Amino acid sequence: MRIGIYPGSFDPVTNGHLDIIERAALLFDRVIVAVSKNVNKSPLFTVSERVETLQQVLIPYYNVVVDSFEGLTAVYARQQGAQAIIRGLRAISDFEAEFMMALSNKKIVSSVETMFLMTRAEYSFISSSAVKEVASFGGCVQSMVPPLVEQKLKEKFAIKLKGEG
Ligand code: ADP
Repeated sequence: MRIGIYPGSFDPVTNGHLDIIERAALLFDRVIVAVSKNVNKSPLFTVSERVETLQQVLIPYYNVVVDSFEGLTAVYARQQGAQAIIRGLRAISDFEAEFMMALSNKKIVSSVETMFLMTRAEYSFISSSAVKEVASFGGCVQSMVPPLVEQKLKEKFAIKLKGEG
């Protein structure tokens, strides 16, 4: 069985991520979308909120499952019996960090490959951080995220505003 791991923060999941997942699901028997618990960024959504949202939006994909993990991606991939780590590329600016990450993952576990899927042109400008910024100012993110995420962002920023007011 061909297993691909798609690791990321998914804070929150965007249409760009969903496009990569949909395409990866055609290439692998099983895709594990893995939310990283590593706390190097200060997230808007908790890990369990992100896992739940991903589970909801990925219901239509019978060979995609959602998990969360802590520690090294390559070690997690090996534990799951995966052949590849899937990453998305949007622009040259993504390349350097992704290149370094792929090389270190290969060094850690040589049997796991990193596979890059190029973004679809219309999604190349979408990032979780842009989505959060637009939503925080009450802007429309309808074209960037699935409806459930749009709803969750509204709720989150309403709570935040209440907390501040
Ligand atoms: P990380 O914090 O690990 O970069 P992200 O959740 O931001 O996690 O992204 C996970 C993966 O999805 C990364 O490989 C990233 O480059 C890719 N990605 C993010 N947005 C897009 C997009 N719009 N199109 C294609 N790939 C994307």
